Amino acid sequence: VNRETSEASPSLEQDVRLSAPSLALFSAWFALLAASLELLARGLQRYAFGDVMRLSRDVIWMAPLGQLMIFGPLAMVLLLVFAIRRTTVPMRLAITVFVFTTFFGVFITPKIVHPLAAALLAAGIAIRAARIAVQHDARVRTMVRRTVPLLVTVLAVAAAVVAGSRYIGKRRALAALPPAAEAAPNVILLIWDTVRAQSLGLYGYDRNTTPNLERIARQGVVFEQAISPTSWTLPSHASMFTGYLPHQLSAGWTTPLDDHRTTLAEVFRDAGYVTGGFSANVLYAEWEHGLSRGFSHYEDYPIKPGQLFLSTSIGNRIVKGRHGWEYGIIPYIIGYRQFMGRRVGASIDAEFLEWLDDRDGRPFFAFLNYFDAHLPYMPPAPFDTLFEPARPRTTVLQRTRDVIAGRKFWGSLSKTDLAAELAAYEGSIAYLDYRLGILFEELERRGALDNTVIILTSDHGEEFLEHGDHEHGGNLYLTQTHVPLVVLYPGRVPAGRRVREAVSLRDVAATIAELSGVRGGNVLPGRSLSRTWNGTGVEANDGEAVLSELVPGLSPDRRLRSMIVGRQHFIRNIDGRMELYDYVADPAEMRDLVELDVSADSLHRWGSAMNELFNCKEPDCCCRLPGALALP
Ligand SMILES: [Zn+2]
Repeated sequence: VNRETSEASPSLEQDVRLSAPSLALFSAWFALLAASLELLARGLQRYAFGDVMRLSRDVIWMAPLGQLMIFGPLAMVLLLVFAIRRTTVPMRLAITVFVFTTFFGVFITPKIVHPLAAALLAAGIAIRAARIAVQHDARVRTMVRRTVPLLVTVLAVAAAVVAGSRYIGKRRALAALPPAAEAAPNVILLIWDTVRAQSLGLYGYDRNTTPNLERIARQGVVFEQAISPTSWTLPSHASMFTGYLPHQLSAGWTTPLDDHRTTLAEVFRDAGYVTGGFSANVLYAEWEHGLSRGFSHYEDYPIKPGQLFLSTSIGNRIVKGRHGWEYGIIPYIIGYRQFMGRRVGASIDAEFLEWLDDRDGRPFFAFLNYFDAHLPYMPPAPFDTLFEPARPRTTVLQRTRDVIAGRKFWGSLSKTDLAAELAAYEGSIAYLDYRLGILFEELERRGALDNTVIILTSDHGEEFLEHGDHEHGGNLYLTQTHVPLVVLYPGRVPAGRRVREAVSLRDVAATIAELSGVRGGNVLPGRSLSRTWNGTGVEANDGEAVLSELVPGLSPDRRLRSMIVGRQHFIRNIDGRMELYDYVADPAEMRDLVELDVSADSLHRWGSAMNELFNCKEPDCCCRLPGALALP
């Protein structure tokens, strides 16, 4: 007997059933409930414990839609299963499933709760709640019918408040801009995230990865030995944005950049520029990690179905695993390799150009982060097969075996697979280069190249097991820190110049400030790279060291440090062990000179020089070496 509305007595509980429309309404109600509870949990985590959410600023309306992507299919499955049996869905079963899903999502929102514990707890609540709901079935139905519009309204108002306050804030910020200097140049900072110098044709690599960059770079200065102050995204961007070194900044794996240091975008804003950031790196270069400060316009998370799904705790955990960036087991096994919701270069360019066309004649400072060369390496055709045939397909069975054996991705790669990954990575770089060619055409067509400073660089390199590590953020060998750097400013920066000596990306801030004539000198430490192209360039780095540092794990007292002086690259490991490479003679850094012929006394002196430089907290004391330090 199918009963839609009557009150159930315990003996008839199994007969209380939901018609298809009722089931749809219930699933929507639970989707809204789940979204609200997860948002509360996330808000609590963020505002009470300072945890980042790793979610869009629009999560308030994206999360309910994302939940519908979970609860909708659940309702469909229930409906289908019972349609086959020519009956409707028992209310008790439907409520059990929905309550379980809701609370499981809420409980796994804090990363510390194990999914199994969350599942047990959610199951307990679901079974009890379903029993009670069925006993009061008429009242529950009325409550659901009445509160769906209420929940929709509350979420819609909250979303409108968030979007509205952002819009008003932006209008106010633009209205408050002081007048800009006459003929102030525009500035475009292009970051090819995760692009190592050694994979670029620009630096002599034998694959033709960068034909457009090579042509464009002839109009300016190419730095052959540009070194990132670290080997991962956040502190590297933070250093380029502020001129400070990583140890002078708050930016860490779990700490955003705080507002103690002035950023480039703030300096430009105060100089009357409109400022726009367009970042495809939503792991660390999004609104929550402090890099958007000073930008009146900042785009990061895309509005795409994948991003809606990621706005739910269950979707996020399935796709990204526990910490929010590794690969979940399910996508790995089913062979879904894409970075869900990834913004490709074409989309970054389109948003930037749209913003540019909207501008009211003021000079602009634009920051563009391209994420295409980041793992997973998934260049679009024809770049996916530019350097190697398509990667061989693995089967579900193989991948399941990998997971059971505890190997995921890197651990399961053969030598051929590794070569294929490298080829896909370099195909991604070729795609970035292809986009660069198009972007320059577009800028030229708009006359936006005439009075514009353009800097192209990367935040760090990428490793393919050359030093036993993969990706980046694991060590300070040049594979992970040596990046492209090109500076263009026709008329002011000489064309066709190549600078051989090592320079640090921390000087990008001072360089941009000097070239554009904004008053960054007091607040953006470092030295303008113009010293390398003005004058002879030979003594530009005389007595100065290029420093990089890394906290490889999550414990801040374990630091890896690196110092480049002349052609020597010193690395001090976490355990204090020193390594030394001559990167000119040995660019791959395979011959550790410490093991060959370095005295204990020299080692000690370099070690104390590094201590001195890295212990410095003042903005400008870095990076002059103590005069007495004789180099090997
Ligand atoms: Zn990065």
